[in-house]
Amino acid sequence: MQIRSAVFVKGIVDPSTAFDDGIPHVALIGRSNVGKSTTVNVLTKQKQLAKTSATPGRTRQINLFLINNNFYLADLPGYGYARGSHDERDVIKELIGAYLFTPGYTHRRVIQIMDAVVGPTELDLEILHALEASGKSVIVALNKIDKVPKSRAKHHIDGIKKIIGDHDIVPYSAEHMIGIADLVDAIERT
Ligand code: GDP
Repeated sequence: MQIRSAVFVKGIVDPSTAFDDGIPHVALIGRSNVGKSTTVNVLTKQKQLAKTSATPGRTRQINLFLINNNFYLADLPGYGYARGSHDERDVIKELIGAYLFTPGYTHRRVIQIMDAVVGPTELDLEILHALEASGKSVIVALNKIDKVPKSRAKHHIDGIKKIIGDHDIVPYSAEHMIGIADLVDAIERT
């Protein structure tokens, strides 16, 4: 698949009023600062489509981008921002949970971005297991692979695979444009 067009359609603030027009969603989730905005910009080839933010945890809505007139790329707020207040974290957690687990949205796939250096955090795994329990088709996208020395990469990724289990795992770097075609191919595979 080639991404030919990407258009911002709308921001969802309240997912309980489901916006379902029959077009499938590919959801993009991840911890704050994991490089989600950079990934959206690279996937859509538009530098400023999702604001890359120096202050993580700011975005509080789900941004829908229509890709190739075929599916929505849904950019969710980053979770687990350490410096956010408890209230703010709860609001974001509820928003993500409502969007992912309320029937009414058709998710073709959920891309969960994790940090290739850090590996899965406890919160990453908690969310991954909730996605598994609800039968979602998950891609674990390991961003910032440029920071893992090449000589250690295979061993390092094998270790992460053991923790993640049976999911598509795509190591990539949004900033250095490594593995982007693999990520796009994984989105297409169901
Ligand atoms: P978000 O909070 O998840 O949307 O993360 P951003 O896209 O704003 O990126 C957070 C930080 O990670 C920024 O300083 C980016 O430059 C950096 N970053 C994003 N992708 C990569 C990558 O592939 N490699 C490296 N080394 N840094 C990255």
